[in-house]
Amino acid sequence: MTISNPEIPVTPTQEAATPSSFLRDQIAEDVRTRKYGDAIIQTRFPPEPNGYLHIGHAKAICIDFGLADEFGGKTNLRFDDTNPEKEEQEYVDSIQKDVRWLGFEWDRLCYASDYFGQLYEWALKLIKDGKAYVDDLTADEIRQHRGTLTEPGKDSPYRSRSVEENLDLFTRMKAGEFPDGTRVLRAKIDMASPNLNMRDPVMYRILHAPHQRTGDAWCIYPMYDYAHGQSDSLENVTHSMCTLEFADHQPLYRWYIEQLGIFPTQQIEFDRLNITYTVLSKRRLIQFVQEGVVNGWDDPRMPTLSGFRRRGFTPEAIRTFVAAAGVSRTNGTTDVEMLEHFQRDDLNHRARRAMAVLHPLKLVIDNYPEGQEEFVDAANNPEDPSAGTRQVPFSREVYIEQDDFREVPPPKYYRLSPGKEVRLRNAYFITARSVVKDDAGNIVEVHCTYDPASRGGNSPDGRKVKSTMHWVSAAHAIEAEIRLYDKLFAKPDPNDFAEGGSVLDNLNPNSLEVLLDAKLEPSLASAKLEDRYQFERVGYFCLDPDSTAGKLVFNRTLPLKDSWAKIEKKAGA
Ligand code: ATP
Ligand code: MG
Repeated sequence: MTISNPEIPVTPTQEAATPSSFLRDQIAEDVRTRKYGDAIIQTRFPPEPNGYLHIGHAKAICIDFGLADEFGGKTNLRFDDTNPEKEEQEYVDSIQKDVRWLGFEWDRLCYASDYFGQLYEWALKLIKDGKAYVDDLTADEIRQHRGTLTEPGKDSPYRSRSVEENLDLFTRMKAGEFPDGTRVLRAKIDMASPNLNMRDPVMYRILHAPHQRTGDAWCIYPMYDYAHGQSDSLENVTHSMCTLEFADHQPLYRWYIEQLGIFPTQQIEFDRLNITYTVLSKRRLIQFVQEGVVNGWDDPRMPTLSGFRRRGFTPEAIRTFVAAAGVSRTNGTTDVEMLEHFQRDDLNHRARRAMAVLHPLKLVIDNYPEGQEEFVDAANNPEDPSAGTRQVPFSREVYIEQDDFREVPPPKYYRLSPGKEVRLRNAYFITARSVVKDDAGNIVEVHCTYDPASRGGNSPDGRKVKSTMHWVSAAHAIEAEIRLYDKLFAKPDPNDFAEGGSVLDNLNPNSLEVLLDAKLEPSLASAKLEDRYQFERVGYFCLDPDSTAGKLVFNRTLPLKDSWAKIEKKAGA
């Protein structure tokens, strides 16, 4: 018996993907006034390939791709790969995979490193125009000269070098004549500017390091701030949308564009996505991976897109969440429960139901004929009749959850206890009669009787039971490892730690629980990685890539309980 699950659709619903906002208003206005003439709306998503994408990047992706799409424009995927020491092909590959998984396809695949030649030519032009100079100060000295927010900076003694000397030194920097860190090229702007980014920012540094794409061709590399704006301009990016921390850099990007007289890209900033209980900073995420806090970038507890994918989250739910979180001009924090709510909602509609017992307790039906088996009908998805039904094997011995039986039931405990009748889902009414205990006094078996007339889960005499329990036939059960995930951090703000401490102080010690003894209904043997399941009464689950033919591993995507509705209600009250 196999179940074939519906394919998970990957076509993005753009309407839902793009948060409505001042960003859209600005683009609509620019289209209306024909600010860019006949040019199409062009955006880009510009990751540095120095880590895996996280859910914060998903927001930027939905904005960049979603808005361009809405206005008939195009979006490039551009790697801002100006820092060879921290970048790797692995990251380049994972980023492309994740953008596609989220449901978007770029127009052109670009790299800032493709522009190294052009950027160098432009640097020569700025030198010739007296707008850039080679500085021999050390990095420390440059920092000291920079001043503070309240004090202006000091000119470098090398600021007044002649154009000829600057050209000579810069070409020799490129030729590899000087060791790392001995000289830099700086823009000559204003050491007294109230904006620190305008105080003669460094344009080029010497770095004898091979680049993952340009190899040994260069031993000087442009700074991110020198490459970013011109890369946008070279791609005729009309709207360069980025997070708020770049607002102070915008005057510098504009300055370069104006000095060079090139395509006037317009930058617009929006708020970063922050989520409670979640760390969204590549620097930190790299640390978690390197220090073994998690098992790799795609650990299902990681807020990376690859982690969410492995955990069983869907691109649709992530896009819906991002859209609902919205965009703003000030940074805030969104409740993680809201993300979980949208994921549950999505899974509730698409996930196949199945029965799995996580903490098994054997139930023996004394009056059921020994050696007999039968198949009961079970709906694959009560939310979607078109998903059909499946046949689940039933026999004299079944597993139920340990939690579903109490020898001495506490008040209001409606599940199984001696003398009490309950329903085994889709099967029969049963009444508990006795228990078998081991030497230590633990209950190892519950014995019961069933009512053969209640087949399918209803009694002909209209008798009611207060509880319906899931079960798995012992003779037919398949064994699996189950990984129960919880939040990686125990505090809503993981960065709220004592002085001298670290974000790691706030780790949730119970973020992963592994169950080795779970019993699953046999149809789950044919589960595929992209399938989504609701294990009835337990939660949403998906197959983990660690699974082998001999041993299946399932990840809990989320438990069933939705706390978001409560939070919303409280907020409204
Ligand atoms: P991190 O701070 O996590 O290291 P980053 O900003 O350095 O991220 P980039 O690769 O430079 O990462 O980001 C690519 C794009 O994604 C940028 O335009 C950036 O503004 C955007 N982005 C990064 N983090 C977020 C976030 N939390 N919310 C929304 N957009 C983000
Ligand atoms: Mg960055």
